[in-house]
Amino acid sequence: MVTKVQYTVDTELSLKLFQEGASAQENFDSSIAGKCRDGEFGIFYQMDRLEAYGLKGVFFVDPFPALVYGPGVVARIVEPILKRGHEVQLHIHTEWLEFARDHELAHLRGRNIADFPLDDQVRLLDQARALLMIAGAPKPTAFRAGNFGANDDTLRALSALSVPYDSSFNPAFLAGECDIDLPPETPPFSEHMGVGIIPVSVIEDRPGSIRAAQLCALSAWEMRDGLRHAAEHDWPCFTIVSHSFELLSRDRTRVNPIVQRRFESMCLNIAEQTRLEGAGFEALQPQRRASLAKLPANLVRTALRYGEQAVSRIRYEVGILSTLFLNEFAAIESVVAI
Ligand SMILES: [Zn+2]
Repeated sequence: MVTKVQYTVDTELSLKLFQEGASAQENFDSSIAGKCRDGEFGIFYQMDRLEAYGLKGVFFVDPFPALVYGPGVVARIVEPILKRGHEVQLHIHTEWLEFARDHELAHLRGRNIADFPLDDQVRLLDQARALLMIAGAPKPTAFRAGNFGANDDTLRALSALSVPYDSSFNPAFLAGECDIDLPPETPPFSEHMGVGIIPVSVIEDRPGSIRAAQLCALSAWEMRDGLRHAAEHDWPCFTIVSHSFELLSRDRTRVNPIVQRRFESMCLNIAEQTRLEGAGFEALQPQRRASLAKLPANLVRTALRYGEQAVSRIRYEVGILSTLFLNEFAAIESVVAI
């Protein structure tokens, strides 16, 4: 049995850049195309690399920037993704409502979709879906809330709108903004409030501590072990989170080569394992349910990621690490075959 690996990319313009006065083009260049002084590392680069390995990505596109920039910029995101054979699904950041003009829902306020009563959630999701479809997307079959900020009413709203899958449930965010009332060990395809739940996959990095399968959160070694564990234990799917700007430094001026290398390693691992297949939500097989045993903790692997993230933060966020230390760390990485 093959494990379907969903590489999901939350694809979104930046509200912060909008507030700082960025035009639609400037925001697109930074947030979507990932332009920085080292080149372009956003969705077009990510699609290039996925295609080089024969993989298909899922792009959760937030259509709400259309409320301030107009619908054209969302169409410019959706069209190339579909043209290249990848999947577009629905994402939503309700923070944009505060800046919307001349829109029937512009009076609504909330950081997360879960902040709204059920009736308004239905209206907001219906509007977002319509905006995405106006931009050229087929009717979405899956949804992910911005900030993973969904609750059970979000699922009820999706059910009312006949959206079959939700991927907002992130067991590593249950102490944060994810308010869906399910236990962390919930397996894919669990039905909750009339919707199929496809959780963000997690690994255990220390006994009793879980981390989401996200490019910026797991080392290449952790991701590889997580993928292998999923295949060996016949998981129906393994769901990875990324962003259109995930490969950039936090200030978005440079590529983060550590995350770039993790992405390349992830693609290679999915492509070379015959029991893994990069796929979208359209390829899921709802009849396959499983109880998932998490990848158990490996403290050496966790410690090395701490080191890698420290390097990433210092070298690419602060920019003061010596090249010597960076080279030494690269050597450690190659020894452990990350
Ligand atoms: Zn988002």
